[in-house]
Amino acid sequence: MKAEHVESDLTHVLFTKEEIAQKIEELAEQIDRDYEGRDVLLVGVLKGAVMVMADLTRALKGQYPMDWMAVSSYGSGTKSSGVVRILKDLDTDLHGKDVLIVEDIIDSGLTLSWLRTNLESRGPKSVEICALLRKPDAAKTSIDVKYVGWDIPNEFVVGYGLDFAEHYRNLECIGTLAPHVYE
Ligand code: 5GP
Ligand code: MG
Ligand code: MG
Repeated sequence: MKAEHVESDLTHVLFTKEEIAQKIEELAEQIDRDYEGRDVLLVGVLKGAVMVMADLTRALKGQYPMDWMAVSSYGSGTKSSGVVRILKDLDTDLHGKDVLIVEDIIDSGLTLSWLRTNLESRGPKSVEICALLRKPDAAKTSIDVKYVGWDIPNEFVVGYGLDFAEHYRNLECIGTLAPHVYE
């Protein structure tokens, strides 16, 4: 099914393709300014961050290597528990590096909080976070996020890397799912 046909499955569009592109440009400008001349590693969290990473790295002027991790959160159903298992680890040694974790969305914050502590234990110079979306009302732990695209209401969103049962990742916009999809 083509992405544009699937847009009828959305109740409303939160951010259009153009708004996302603009936001990514703004984030890239800040990151380029803050990290100029430093030994940076961008760490993407699979799979949700694939689109953010692809567009962010092309918007950045600096040439920063990227690496990927895949993690799975133990827990019941859709709720994150904060106990995390590494499914795919980094290939890169973090000693002396300025690590920037690239994420799609921060919900409870538990996964990212665990991940940051884990990466900090590997001897990097710094670990910071860039997330396109954050749900402040869903936070279960306070987590210092250096770069945030938008704060959004506590609703389930899809598109631009974010999935529902592995669908909708290829939507160019970000929106909320219509109830008929999951009921
Ligand atoms: P946390 O540990 O912050 O609760 O979980 C974060 C992960 O849960 C995100 O990286 C994302 O994969 C998933 N997630 C959280 N909220 C949403 C949402 O609204 N939509 C989608 N598609 N995934 C979400
Ligand atoms: Mg994610
Ligand atoms: Mg998912």
